[in-house]
Amino acid sequence: MGTRKVRVCPRCGSPKVKENKTSVNGWLVPTTYYCEEEGCGYSGPGLIEIDAEEAEILRQVMNGESSVEE
Ligand SMILES: [Zn+2]
Repeated sequence: MGTRKVRVCPRCGSPKVKENKTSVNGWLVPTTYYCEEEGCGYSGPGLIEIDAEEAEILRQVMNGESSVEE
């Protein structure tokens, strides 16, 4: 058991994010991330880390596909 954590784009909720590690002459600089999702183009210092199940829900909500009904 255990919950799998995934990191997703804070803008569109896509898991298609890539780490963009940069080092300048050996100096560590803050890691930035960018989103590969078409039409998003997020680029920034942070991602959302959530459960894999929540990620799926979040993605659906952000895409307007949610059919959450009681
Ligand atoms: Zn995105």
